[in-house]
Amino acid sequence: MSETYDFLFKFLVIGNAGTGKSCLLHQFIEKRFKDDSNHTIGVEFGSKIISVVNKFVKLQIWDTAGQERFRQSDGGAFRGGSDSSPDCMSVTRSYYRGAAGALLVYDITSRETYNALTNWLTDARMLASQNIVIILCGNKKDLDADREVTFLEASRFAQENELMFLETSALTGENVEEAFVQCARKILNKIESGELDPERMGSGIQYGDAALRQLRSPRRAQAESVQDCGC
Ligand code: GDP
Ligand code: MG
Repeated sequence: MSETYDFLFKFLVIGNAGTGKSCLLHQFIEKRFKDDSNHTIGVEFGSKIISVVNKFVKLQIWDTAGQERFRQSDGGAFRGGSDSSPDCMSVTRSYYRGAAGALLVYDITSRETYNALTNWLTDARMLASQNIVIILCGNKKDLDADREVTFLEASRFAQENELMFLETSALTGENVEEAFVQCARKILNKIESGELDPERMGSGIQYGDAALRQLRSPRRAQAESVQDCGC
């Protein structure tokens, strides 16, 4: 696919360590499960162009690259404890800043990761934006026999907190693409309804070449019609 797109959205993948965030990103970008033996360079960043409705959207996705391990001891985020140093805070702020969307991930086989969701949510809304569009992902859906969190319980939590919700498996690939696409579709809807303004600073949205060409084309068409005029 060419590099032409209508919009670029900044996305985050957040949640406790071990929930499968890096694997979800890898599955989305590479369409295969990330092998555990491949520890060389953690994917810290990925981008992919997807087609949503009638638009091409480039997702620029940031992964935490393991720093979330330090945050968890404080209950999910950089609040209090040894991690509230100014350096840590500024790294966290720049990670969250201007994100348009996020995948908030827990592991369906670990209640602990589910219990941490409220803290992650507070951080995302406080440090990214009140308007950030979040999809809750109950990952490791393939491990149903070891499940500690029911689908119903998590869908109620999602409803109460105005989140979209899917159970995913980075292992089989089930619902992985859907999670990113649903989140992007909701952002597009909000742009179209005027609820989100791509030109607002920190919206996490940029126009791509295709959208800019469309914006410019009425003027170009006008100029051309003037040139073509034989009078
Ligand atoms: P992160 O710390 O949130 O980035 O988690 P990782 O992506 O590193 O995954 C943590 C562990 O969970 C690894 O051992 C993965 O192989 C495993 N894992 C990740 N996603 C899945 C999944 O969907 N199903 C299963 N069965 N294991 C998974
Ligand atoms: Mg990771």
